[in-house]
Amino acid sequence: MSALVWIQREFRIDYLPALQQALQNHSEVVVAYFHDPDLTLGEANSAWLSKALQNLQAAYEKRNGRLNIVNGSFETKLAEVIQSYQVEEVLYSFQVGMPFIQQQQTALRVCEQNRVGLTPFYSEDFFQADQVVNKSGQAYKVFTPYYKNAMQLIHAVEPLELTQADLSATAKIKTDDSNLVVPQDLVEIENKAWAKKLMKHWQVGESAAWEHYETFSQLGLAGYDEDRDYPAIDATSKLSPYLHFGHINPRSIYFSLLSQQAKPANYQAWVRQLFWRSFARYLLVWFADKERQPFNDKYSVLAWDHLPEKLQAWQKGRTGIPIIDAGMRELWETGFMHNRVRMLVASILSKNLNIDWLHGMDWFADTLVDADPANNSMGWQWVAGCGVDAAPYYRLFNPLVQSKKIDAHGDYIKRWVPELTGLSAKAIHEPWKDLQACKQAGVKLGEDYPLPIVDIDNSRQAHVERVNLLKTA
Ligand code: FAD
Repeated sequence: MSALVWIQREFRIDYLPALQQALQNHSEVVVAYFHDPDLTLGEANSAWLSKALQNLQAAYEKRNGRLNIVNGSFETKLAEVIQSYQVEEVLYSFQVGMPFIQQQQTALRVCEQNRVGLTPFYSEDFFQADQVVNKSGQAYKVFTPYYKNAMQLIHAVEPLELTQADLSATAKIKTDDSNLVVPQDLVEIENKAWAKKLMKHWQVGESAAWEHYETFSQLGLAGYDEDRDYPAIDATSKLSPYLHFGHINPRSIYFSLLSQQAKPANYQAWVRQLFWRSFARYLLVWFADKERQPFNDKYSVLAWDHLPEKLQAWQKGRTGIPIIDAGMRELWETGFMHNRVRMLVASILSKNLNIDWLHGMDWFADTLVDADPANNSMGWQWVAGCGVDAAPYYRLFNPLVQSKKIDAHGDYIKRWVPELTGLSAKAIHEPWKDLQACKQAGVKLGEDYPLPIVDIDNSRQAHVERVNLLKTA
């Protein structure tokens, strides 16, 4: 009799209690990732996933173990694995959002039908969602009280442990050779020119994640609080894809920071950001139907404009508003975008252009390497004004004011919008207001670089009026 460790997006060996418990309690352990072609992820996520599978397989082999990759309908294949290897217990790490929740429900059905145990581990976060509740036992909908309560409870959180070095128990079972190859559809995505370009910016895997974390905690954290809002400065950790794919775990990060005798400066400010991630996951446990629905019901009747050309200009970084185009091009080139700029591009799409935030969220889901159902949904709803803890509807980001504030010298804009390199720090944020400067810099607006596709002031007013109507409805 054996155990099945079902990997969803926990691409690591250490600090993985589901694997540790299976190895402790069973002499034979099948470790499997199930790839269901009907449950696709975005392309940037898929390119990362393809590399993550190869990397994890190599890591298992190094420790005398084996990771299986089972391709096909999840429901059918899970049942087949359970029956073929006489599995008596399936162990997995709980995940939130689609398609993970759907797969977990399917797994429950299959395990019940086959009379095997299904054991969840809540290791991918600090707490289980029902551990952090308000005085009435309900979910928090505002971050600060949630965070304060979490900080009061954190002393009870247990650190995760290293997994035993030898994983030969996972290799004892003879598996089908086809279970050892990365599915063709993932490899095809990984080999696309666009995906290759993105992935040049990233090292994938558990060791890479820890190296990345070590460098950031020793060298980057010192300037975090002061510099994290300036996109031209490399001041944030860029750990989000590693956290999303479970190469590294927030709990392990937390205990690693605590264990350091001289705590890195600013570590608490950074831990607070890790809790934003937890809050997003927490919300999707309590309100699973809100991943694609506005938290604030009033927003469900908001009439969006159908503007495919403007949506495409936004996607391609050709809105004519330099800070927005810089962000969208950073995304297209690297699969990543600075947090502050994510807020600005989301705001202009959903508020100034009045294009449904779901279109923006779907574009992010397809192009971000860290695309994550919980963070993506919370981020978009927060900016669009329909989320929990959202900014007041009449307080819109003005991308032009923000651009001057967060990229005063235009360094970030110049990095991603090279056609504007010749413009001065003064002219670069709103080139259409200084045609003389454009002429001198050899920039022909409307030809080399577009004129703005939206008037910021008028569209701001239109947004406030639209939402005012909702409030009085
Ligand atoms: P750091 O500043 O180093 O923070 C450390 C970690 O804390 C991050 O890796 C992340 O896991 C977490 N974190 C930081 N800020 C936030 C935040 N605002 N919300 C939730 N978690 C946070 N993040 C994703 O991981 N995936 C997404 O799909 C995603 N979509 C977003 C969409 C929009 C519209 C917005 C406004 C934000 C989105 N974010 C998303 C949150 C945030 O932008 C990224 O987590 C952050 O930019 C990642 O950079 P970092 O790792 O350098 O962050």
